[in-house]
Amino acid sequence: MCDILIVGAGATGALAALVLAQAGLDVVCLEQGAWVNDADRPHHLADWSWQRRTRWNPDVNRRDHADDFPVKSDSSQILMWNAVGGSTNVYGGLWPRYRPSDFRKGTEHGLQPDWPITYEDISPFYESADRIIGVSGLAGDLAMPPRERCPTGPLPVSDVARRLSAGFDKLDWHWWPVEASVISEDYDGRPACNNCGVCNGCPRGSMNEFSTSIWPKAIRAGCDLRTHARVLKIEKGADGRATGAYYIDRNSDQILFQKARIVVLAANGVGTPRLLLASNNLANSNDQVGRNLLHHTLVASEMWVDGPVDGHIGYAASLISREFAETDISRGFVNGFNLNCVTSTPSAGELAAGWFSSARAPWGSGHHQWFENHFGRSIGVFAIGDDLPNPENRVSLDPERTDSDGMPGAKVQYAPGENDKRMMNYMLDRLKELAQACDAVEYRLQDYRDEGGVYRTPAWHMLGTCRMGKDPETSVVNGWTQSWEVPNLFIVDGSVLATGGTVNPTPTISAMALRTATYIRDNFAVLSTATKHTAMD
Ligand SMILES: Cc1cc2nc3c(=O)[nH]c(=O)nc-3n(C[C@H](O)[C@H](O)[C@H](O)COP(=O)(O)OP(=O)(O)OC[C@H]3O[C@@H](n4cnc5c(N)ncnc54)[C@H](O)[C@@H]3O)c2cc1C
Ligand code: SF4
Repeated sequence: MCDILIVGAGATGALAALVLAQAGLDVVCLEQGAWVNDADRPHHLADWSWQRRTRWNPDVNRRDHADDFPVKSDSSQILMWNAVGGSTNVYGGLWPRYRPSDFRKGTEHGLQPDWPITYEDISPFYESADRIIGVSGLAGDLAMPPRERCPTGPLPVSDVARRLSAGFDKLDWHWWPVEASVISEDYDGRPACNNCGVCNGCPRGSMNEFSTSIWPKAIRAGCDLRTHARVLKIEKGADGRATGAYYIDRNSDQILFQKARIVVLAANGVGTPRLLLASNNLANSNDQVGRNLLHHTLVASEMWVDGPVDGHIGYAASLISREFAETDISRGFVNGFNLNCVTSTPSAGELAAGWFSSARAPWGSGHHQWFENHFGRSIGVFAIGDDLPNPENRVSLDPERTDSDGMPGAKVQYAPGENDKRMMNYMLDRLKELAQACDAVEYRLQDYRDEGGVYRTPAWHMLGTCRMGKDPETSVVNGWTQSWEVPNLFIVDGSVLATGGTVNPTPTISAMALRTATYIRDNFAVLSTATKHTAMD
């Protein structure tokens, strides 16, 4: 019997393990994948650009690895990584926060629920997450509430950022250097980013990957992290409490049972609903588990300018514009979006293959000229919007495919609604304006819709599938991310987010995980025997 059983050793599992193990609790974490060997990352390999498309492809269906589980989808490209550190092994490290209005969309327009908590409730946890993780950035963005100084200062201004800021200024649109979980100065025993680029995992440890920066601390504090341990089912006792989990030790092929006083799910927005559904529909008598999947409304542009901006060198992120973050109903839709400016394709091969916007280098006589006009001159911008929840956008169990241990795979259905589509069209127009303001000699828009009009978004944000709420009928967990039905079951990954906001979600997911872990730590005696969920105001 352990005090706390955590399922999943990704970003949120790491943070929960750290807080709970440092408090002296007996913590076990079960992770289906393995440790990532830094020397194995594409960064070190001569054919790194090919490796990123094959073995290191973040698309779970494009690599053939026994640590993964299949995710069937007729639309979204499901991107994730299943190993210690989870998807942060391949993430981009952009680290922006939600705005206070993201938590009260129900009050604003009623098409999304209000969160049961406010920005102010998680604001202290944003700060502690930044300190634990190591973040670079510049406090003082007037589009955001005041924040503490970032643990390290902003990353150096790139040529791409200079060019973009001039374009934003011409349009009189907001811009600010985006916070990143990449340290600009030596911090917490890790060296500053040296701008070497190709951040497909950072071999220096300058980008926080949770496997290298958080997990060693959690293990030193006493957490028992077991790899190649895939959880098959959470078991429930006669008193309605979770008793522990059956898992397969994939090294010995034995099925084992780990008893626990409290179970914490950290298996991400697809893995957590999949596990609950596979556990005899646990915590799902209201049929909400897996529903309301949010991916963010995403479109992008790639522009090419008339001189080198070295978009292929160094860390990818640069500026964020929150000009359109709020609802303005005169635009024809509710909710807002942000412009996330990145550099462009990191390798010559990827550029030529049309990685960002499908603009491919021609074969034959025009090839060299095309290359000269494009390589090192490109800039990428993503527009990321707050998509409205739709119960039909969902994660369910795949009735046909199983993973390498015989557990049902996941099935993902996602299609943007009318509001999302109107937002996408508006975003594309703004990206066009931005390219013109940056004096782009050429630009190309990417709406991720195929010839048949199917939206095939890169789905690196998987949110909302076990959402938190005030109403047990329409949500899966309460304001402490505690299951309404199983009082010693908590969820800490992105599935609990009630709305998706307009930015990359991991800072918010991390702050939420710290908040829940702190709540469990401070109330362990009560929660470890509770037979009812905590009463909420
Ligand atoms: C390509 C890419 C780029 C991204 N860029 C950014 C970015 O720039 N900024 C940002 O904010 N976010 C970014 N993200 C998203 C970010 O990585 C996730 O939000 C974050 O990792 C979520 O943390 P998590 O703990 O919920 O899940 P994960 O980190 O995905 O971890 C879940 C873990 O659970 C394990 N697991 C699942 N099921 C089981 C089971 N049954 N038994 C045992 N273990 C299980 C998995 O193996 C995995 O290790 C990106 C993601 C991708 C894929
Ligand atoms: S650019 Fe910085 S974050 Fe990226 S791999 Fe190099 S040192 Fe790491």
